[in-house]
Amino acid sequence: MKKVTQRQTKAHNDRLILKTIYEAGQTSRADVARSTGLARTTVSDAVATWIDEGLVAEVGVGPSAGGKPPILLSVVDSSRYLIGIDLASNEFHGGIVDLYGKIVHRRTIEIGDRDGEAALPLVYTLLDDLLSSAPGPVLGIGIGAPGLMDAHGGIVRHAVNLGWTDLALKDILQERYELPVHIANDVQAAALAECTFGSGKEVSSLVVIRVGRGLGAGIVLNRKPYYGDGSGAGEIGHMKVVDDGERCRCGHYGCLETVVNRRAIVRRARSIALDPRSILHRFAAQPKEIDLEAVVEAFQAGDELVREIVLDTATYLGRAISGLVCALNVQRIVLSGSVTHFGPEFLKAIRREVMQGTLAWLVDGTQIEFTTLDPDIVVLGAAALLLTYELEIV
Ligand SMILES: [Zn+2]
Repeated sequence: MKKVTQRQTKAHNDRLILKTIYEAGQTSRADVARSTGLARTTVSDAVATWIDEGLVAEVGVGPSAGGKPPILLSVVDSSRYLIGIDLASNEFHGGIVDLYGKIVHRRTIEIGDRDGEAALPLVYTLLDDLLSSAPGPVLGIGIGAPGLMDAHGGIVRHAVNLGWTDLALKDILQERYELPVHIANDVQAAALAECTFGSGKEVSSLVVIRVGRGLGAGIVLNRKPYYGDGSGAGEIGHMKVVDDGERCRCGHYGCLETVVNRRAIVRRARSIALDPRSILHRFAAQPKEIDLEAVVEAFQAGDELVREIVLDTATYLGRAISGLVCALNVQRIVLSGSVTHFGPEFLKAIRREVMQGTLAWLVDGTQIEFTTLDPDIVVLGAAALLLTYELEIV
């Protein structure tokens, strides 16, 4: 019994030491001992193990504090690779990612109208390609999947657009590739990416709102993903924001998702194509040709009618964000997905709404911004799952 406990303590210390080196970028054994409170010999032993495994290397000498200058250590970014895949976009995206979040190889596969059984072989094709292109040892496979998830069991409960119900994706892929597999909902993966590789590195809590086919929020509290008691935390797309609104795919009316998503914005823009005051009038004969790009262009050109639609969207989103700020008091809200094309004016409109809908002092310290990780945010988050669960360094 005692031996088991000792082994567990050693494993725990080894991971803590690796995490400390990873976060520092470059550091010495003495500084690791100081910041972890562990004995110098414990640190030296662990470092020797990690150097043996190739994860850590001695990379130079630091400034001397009087005596012998310390040897600096770093985690070797290319010592292991992470495979991250995003199954929640219009195409399947995948990347080979190094330990510091640099994507060294990308692959995209068109899904077309294949779903259900037919979509799974596409996942295999994507993974086969990525694994055969990896320039070094692969730590595992991380997946950001759409829909309802039992992340603990690795089961996709319900992914409408792929036609998957209760698919044991983790087991299937683990068996096929003999590698560790971790799965999260795409929005939760995006939140993990933001706090591992994005602007959230220094904050303890943040919310990522992702606007794509649907709309959802990924919540990180005290640097831990928060899924809620029933794994449904962050389902803000189905908050009712419009009285007598349109029917949502959930069956209710006026959900946030019915007004804030790519399709809804484009649909409303198409309805103004007949109005000669709008730049979009040039599509009057073929309103179906209006896509998000055309809407963004008209918005930036100052088209008043389009501005009304876009700023309306910002107002609805602002209302939902007010609710999040009140309930969680998180100070970093990051937007990802199609709305990021609308630029700073869109953020200003959201902020205005949040200011009106919340106590001033709650909003004061709150930053609302666009992610810098798109379009790779889900791939990076899926990769970060491996840093969390396999190496325990984030
Ligand atoms: Zn709904």
